[in-house]
Amino acid sequence: MTGTAQATALIAAAGSGERLGAGGPKALARLGGRAMVEWSVEAFGAAGRVGAVLVAAPPGGAGQLAALLPEVTVVDGGESRSDSVAAMLERADTEAVVVHDAARPLVTPALIDAVLARLGDSPEFAGVVAAARLTDTVKESGGEGEVERTLDRSRLWAAQTPQAFRAEALREALADPAARAEATDDAMLVERAGGRVLLQEAPRENLKVTTPLDLRLAELVLAERH
Ligand code: C5P
Repeated sequence: MTGTAQATALIAAAGSGERLGAGGPKALARLGGRAMVEWSVEAFGAAGRVGAVLVAAPPGGAGQLAALLPEVTVVDGGESRSDSVAAMLERADTEAVVVHDAARPLVTPALIDAVLARLGDSPEFAGVVAAARLTDTVKESGGEGEVERTLDRSRLWAAQTPQAFRAEALREALADPAARAEATDDAMLVERAGGRVLLQEAPRENLKVTTPLDLRLAELVLAERH
């Protein structure tokens, strides 16, 4: 990949959004006067290193998303998040791709361009992942609430999106449907397939909207920005 080639953006927006309780797909929940997915699409449209933008839609939602987002290509999502990413990847024809969750509406063009630039500068790596250092101490428990061990916080990062990959490496990593069903991010599959992945420090502000509290926090950040 050359440093200047544009990447294809793959925005996963096909989740049901049950935990948010917005009464429909999370990507369409209202945030700052728009559907949540519109914030991500705007940020990717403004990123200099991104060319085409693809969005995965929830079952039955492709028409509505296509009407809302005339500048992107809408693809039917899959059963799992990784199935949705795989469906979009089939349509990508660039050497680099950048995957993003519509559930992270506070992503900025600067962060998107930073992960892509780092990938371009790091030929020995298959992917670059936006991530924030943990501030909580993390404990591991078997399920009954008893602590089994405390992890070394100085080594821990919370992985976010955007995640930039060499398209070929992501294609190989997503090939196994069983692995796809378990994955919580794309980098995990690339790592398992033997690809080396770098962390790109990102602001905690690039939060993931999962619960109604997250939605309130996102509203506050947007109100501050605009
Ligand atoms: O459910 P969760 O919040 O972890 O989903 C992360 C992202 O993956 C969301 O943006 C969601 O829309 C997307 N997703 C998807 N296809 C699925 C499930 C989730 O695109 N089948």
